[in-house]
Amino acid sequence: MAPEPKAYWRNFLAGTFVDGSAGRLAVDDPATGELLAEQALADAGDIDRAVAAARACHESGILRDLRPVERGRMVRAIGEHLLQRTDEIAQVLTLESGKPLWEARIEVEGAARYFEYYGNQAETVEGRSIPLGAGYLDFTINEPFGVSAQIIPWNYPIEMTARSLAPALATGNACVVKTPELDPLSNGFIAEAVAAAGVPEGAVSILCGTGAEAGAALASHPGIDQIVFTGSVRTGISIATAAARNVVPCVLELGGKSAAIVHRDADIDDLVSNVRWGIFFNAGQVCSAMARLIVHRDIHDEVVEAVAEMARSLSVGPGIERATFGANMGAMVSERQRDRAEAMCRAAEGEGARAVAGGRKLNRAGWFLEATVFDGVTPDMGIAREEVFGPVLSVLAFDSDEEAVAIANGTDYGLVAGVFTRDLDRATRAAARLRAGQVFVNEWYAGGVETPFGGYGKSGYGREKGREALWNYVQTKNVAIRLP
Ligand code: NAD
Repeated sequence: MAPEPKAYWRNFLAGTFVDGSAGRLAVDDPATGELLAEQALADAGDIDRAVAAARACHESGILRDLRPVERGRMVRAIGEHLLQRTDEIAQVLTLESGKPLWEARIEVEGAARYFEYYGNQAETVEGRSIPLGAGYLDFTINEPFGVSAQIIPWNYPIEMTARSLAPALATGNACVVKTPELDPLSNGFIAEAVAAAGVPEGAVSILCGTGAEAGAALASHPGIDQIVFTGSVRTGISIATAAARNVVPCVLELGGKSAAIVHRDADIDDLVSNVRWGIFFNAGQVCSAMARLIVHRDIHDEVVEAVAEMARSLSVGPGIERATFGANMGAMVSERQRDRAEAMCRAAEGEGARAVAGGRKLNRAGWFLEATVFDGVTPDMGIAREEVFGPVLSVLAFDSDEEAVAIANGTDYGLVAGVFTRDLDRATRAAARLRAGQVFVNEWYAGGVETPFGGYGKSGYGREKGREALWNYVQTKNVAIRLP
């Protein structure tokens, strides 16, 4: 067991750990509802200082002008530092977010993987030369934007920071990261890893503050050159509005109501294991969660029974007691999120859906909701269209391939989608028509850091992960020379 987490966590401003000008924020343990630690809280002035330090770092050229292989090594070193402290970080992450310890370890390893992948990509960002005929030399290069602002959600606090910070640094940007209020502590380990890796002063600041003050101040700051935001649609709209006012680009990774289509020839045991990961991993607080299961009517009853049995078998309780992979799930992140999800369950019943597993909060301290499966859901119900962001699966039935795709496409979102069938022709036809940024065939969450990820529709725009994400952080410059 790692040591008890410290009682007070400072912000990281341009290479130094500092108090917050807005005071301190209480961080609670979602498994008990009790105080876990305090976090320094930044105000708009702290954000201002971090942006100024990032700007100075960029202008100095200390990061921008490094040979890319050197920047890549630095970025990889951040990940290596995190990996060396996996147990310690995972414990804090579990205590502040509620997720099982084994899931927290996966998140730490996932965060480290971003630094490894983008560290390796640093020296692959090349330019090209365009022939303009005799007497000209023309080349196009990719330059870092300068100051990258990154606003992070609470569901994967360190993995989401790693997802933006790694490619931004690898391409030579100075970064200001605003961490989430509910579980900011584990980001302190990323700050320590940045310091240990010898990243130049000012190149990275990691600050917690409220969305309304520090988040809004960062998003609208005239000193930033681009923004990456992951979170809700509502906040995404205000970020995009702030970005438009400053005429800077933004990447929005927003919510989802993603669906898996299950055909008659799907392997049911395999499907059940995918549903277990798809909707109950991180207690369903995953933007790309498998929120809807659209099942062929011929196998509907069999699938509902198997999925409900799996959901009922999950033991729900404190993440810190759940150290190894198994049939278990932790708390939701906060009372508010849990009560919102439970209220959506009650509303679903009011609309005529039937809970065949779960649907209730646990009668104990902490923010627990049972693993829940709703049957008899129709596409017009709120539970089929609105994101719960909790461990709640809706099952719908279909008769034809066209109907299945139409139901899957029938929400405002379009983050990911899935098809379960042995018939690859049918799967590829569906993949072509599904309105989603990523389509999984026979494995939910297939792919990895290497595969581009992002939304259609209200799920946002721009892509994170993969080589695509590198282009979020560079701008194109063409140099056209007439030879004397
Ligand atoms: P949120 O939008 O409330 O908060 C996200 C972040 O934005 C937090 O750091 C918050 O402090 C900050 N923020 C809040 N108001 C702000 C403002 N006015 N200006 C600037 N920053 C502000 O979202 P959340 O509740 O933390 O996260 C849950 C939502 O995020 C879900 O809808 C989920 O689907 C989505 N999400 C999407 C992805 C993805 O990759 N697509 C990943 C994780 C979460």
